Amino acid sequence: AKQNGRNRYDFYTKSITQALRERRRIEEGLKVALELNLFSLLYMPLFKCSTLEIVGIEVLLRCPNLAVDAIGPDQFIPVAEKMGVIKEIDLWVIENSLSCFSDLQLIQGFDGRLCINISGVELHNEAFPGMVGALLEKYQVSPSSVELEITEAAFVQGDAQSVARLDQLKALGITLALDDFGTGHTAFAQLNNYPVDCLKIDASFVDDLFSEHAGRKKMVKIINNLGNLYDLRVVAEGVKTKRQLEYLQDIGCDWVQGYFLSCPLKHADLVDFIIKHKAE
Ligand code: C2E
Ligand code: CA
Ligand code: CA
Ligand code: CA
Repeated sequence: AKQNGRNRYDFYTKSITQALRERRRIEEGLKVALELNLFSLLYMPLFKCSTLEIVGIEVLLRCPNLAVDAIGPDQFIPVAEKMGVIKEIDLWVIENSLSCFSDLQLIQGFDGRLCINISGVELHNEAFPGMVGALLEKYQVSPSSVELEITEAAFVQGDAQSVARLDQLKALGITLALDDFGTGHTAFAQLNNYPVDCLKIDASFVDDLFSEHAGRKKMVKIINNLGNLYDLRVVAEGVKTKRQLEYLQDIGCDWVQGYFLSCPLKHADLVDFIIKHKAE
């Protein structure tokens, strides 16, 4: 028994050490990326489900010096939040994507939306709405073409203060999306209190649409109906097959995105994609 206990102890210390080492590697990588301005952005097109015209682009952050170790935003964003550098990163993403989007509007005549992910931390950042407003001014982008995406998990902790923050953002004239919907714990009644415009059905639901998991099909339909009931645009993410797309078209989902339609693209490739897509 004594030996068993000791083995278990070794097992736990080892995995904690590993987790700490990984965390430290991400922290170092983020510091270097901030110092040397290594971050980059990719753009993933969003399509109207019924016609497949391009109606928006979602900005996705990349940290190339962490990507060599296969560490993506799912892993480094939470670390950036704990380090206290997420506000700096969010602003960098907003500024750089607005600059790129403003070119896209002026040069390509693009009239879709720009969708930007922001951390839930901003719901407690008094200065955030003002800074967003200033950047919209600076790049001469109309607020009505910008949407900010916040995860359902961040909304759920939503106290009065963060609802006030959302109202301030809405007052700028931008729209708000509830991201990864279905994975958090929003009570349906709460939807009434959030000033949101859009629900994004989490990719995990779309992934499993035609798996053994028969319930998934119903879930996607229920979320879509829920969105319709509250007059919210419904976007399904993670569409990887024709069959998934056809199901979403059948139930009347509003917008879709996913590898079946396009993977995230560099700015230059996005421009080519938009031009080619229009010609089709
Ligand atoms: P998200 O907002 O749910 O973004 C969608 C993620 O799913 C992206 O991963 C995208 O590349 C991926 N995806 C979309 N369609 C498909 C598909 O058909 N197949 C597969 N395999 N993947 C698909 P990514 O870029 O790794 O981003 C992960 C998460 O990191 C995002 O999830 C978002 O929560 C966060 N994130 C990304 N960029 C930013 C950012 O600039 N700021 C903040 N605060 N968070 C960000
Ligand atoms: Ca998103
Ligand atoms: Ca998601
Ligand atoms: Ca709808």
